[in-house]
Amino acid sequence: MKRIAIIGGGISGLSAAFALERQRQAGTPLEYVLFEAGPRFGGVIFTEHLENCTVEAGPDSFLTEKPWAAELCHELGIAGQLIGSNDSQRRTYISVNGKLIPLPDGLAFMVPTEVMPAALSPLFSFHTKVRMASEWFHPPREVDADESVASFVKRHYGEEMVERLADPLLSGIYGGDATDLSLRAVLPRFADMQARYGSLGKAMIANRKQINTAGRPLFTTLKDGIQQLVNAVLIRLPASHVRSNTEIQSLQTRDRGWLISSNAKVEKFDGVIMAIPAHAAAKLLEDSHPKLASELGDIRYSSSVTVSLVYDEKVRASLPAGFGYLVPRGEGKRVLASTFVHNKFRDRVPEDRALIRCFLGGTRDQPVLELSEDNILRIVLAELRQILGIEAEPLFARVYKWKAAMAQYNVGHLERLERIERQRVSAPGLFLAGNAYKGIGIPDCVRSGREAASQAIAAMGLNDFKTVATP
Ligand SMILES: Cc1cc2nc3c(=O)[nH]c(=O)nc-3n(C[C@H](O)[C@H](O)[C@H](O)COP(=O)(O)OP(=O)(O)OC[C@H]3O[C@@H](n4cnc5c(N)ncnc54)[C@H](O)[C@@H]3O)c2cc1C
Repeated sequence: MKRIAIIGGGISGLSAAFALERQRQAGTPLEYVLFEAGPRFGGVIFTEHLENCTVEAGPDSFLTEKPWAAELCHELGIAGQLIGSNDSQRRTYISVNGKLIPLPDGLAFMVPTEVMPAALSPLFSFHTKVRMASEWFHPPREVDADESVASFVKRHYGEEMVERLADPLLSGIYGGDATDLSLRAVLPRFADMQARYGSLGKAMIANRKQINTAGRPLFTTLKDGIQQLVNAVLIRLPASHVRSNTEIQSLQTRDRGWLISSNAKVEKFDGVIMAIPAHAAAKLLEDSHPKLASELGDIRYSSSVTVSLVYDEKVRASLPAGFGYLVPRGEGKRVLASTFVHNKFRDRVPEDRALIRCFLGGTRDQPVLELSEDNILRIVLAELRQILGIEAEPLFARVYKWKAAMAQYNVGHLERLERIERQRVSAPGLFLAGNAYKGIGIPDCVRSGREAASQAIAAMGLNDFKTVATP
């Protein structure tokens, strides 16, 4: 009987555990234990139901385009609970000099695919509009070396596009900075478009058919909140295979296996799936695998804070239509983005309530994490007053802090992953999953957990992973 330890009970570790559980049930001779340091599973996924409102503390949805999370829901039998975003109401604003300006139609990430809306939008200066037009004539360009998203966007559309769009969009996803983030890791499709077409605008139009999402909503979530996914996995895992409040404190290799220490208990496993942030994995590996630990430790993380505020119907009526707004760095605010949750998904709050969710922190404002919840709330209320004109007090508010939870795919990330992989294969029985490697969103984390489980099964000579049928 082979024994596999999974360290970390976020969605990556849960996905790995579920994949192993299915193998176990199919008769594969394996045992696994999922270790989670905290009292609850899910990691940054946490939904609260407060006064008939569904409040997401961490992620609120995932990109529909990436199939792995929805596939997991199918396997768990909860596909009927999936709901899409209200895309008929999708509109995003950018705060410019304190005023909300809607993103023009036809913008694909930051690439204009329709001339008139971009040409008429007050979001861009005349100079940027000229850059958009001349971008059409950029010759194809293959670049071997990685570069930052900021330098790439600046070359195509100029500085204003970086400041007003690329940077705020990326700080909403990664809590990161466009001048640090890697083009090849974060926007690989754009690097390919540049190589093939030169102009991103031209490439988008040529690829429109492939990019067309055939009427699917942009974002998907679950009726009871994202936590439903975590709960559905958990009820499929036998209690004897999952341990909360069990932090793994050290890891050693011994006799072609791994000794894992937690709460003064030492257990031996044949394989270990590390589904924890890279900085946490680095700490556990620094004695046994210092080179691997050093590479993992070099992956930077940012911290973030989300603040959810529930208001009455008067405030709801006063808010703009749409999903919310982004705040460029130059505006000098601490709230990076706000989502109008009541518009984005149906049934998140009663009809006479508004739910606004604000994001703070990211690489440029790590000190916000050290502020008290009261201070954070004061900052948020002041900025909502300035931008949305909300004078009323919220009916209730919640502040959630996420320390070092968002991996930053900085320039050179893919090369670092190659070095990590070379080091990893020299540590037999070690597998990595999580948001530090090949995608930060929930679907990518699900995929990474499954892949790690699949690698573990293969490395231990157990049966073919793909032979387990979906129920
Ligand atoms: C505020 C926020 C908003 C986000 N919004 C979205 C979104 O809308 N859509 C989207 O797709 N993605 C979003 N993401 C990203 C996505 O949610 C995460 O990347 C993903 O959930 C990470 O899952 P994980 O299992 O890899 O890591 P985590 O959720 O960080 O879980 C790791 C777990 O490991 C445990 N652990 C750590 N060390 C040890 C140890 N030594 N022993 C045992 N256990 C340990 C931790 O307690 C934790 O539970 C968001 C992230 C944040 C922080």
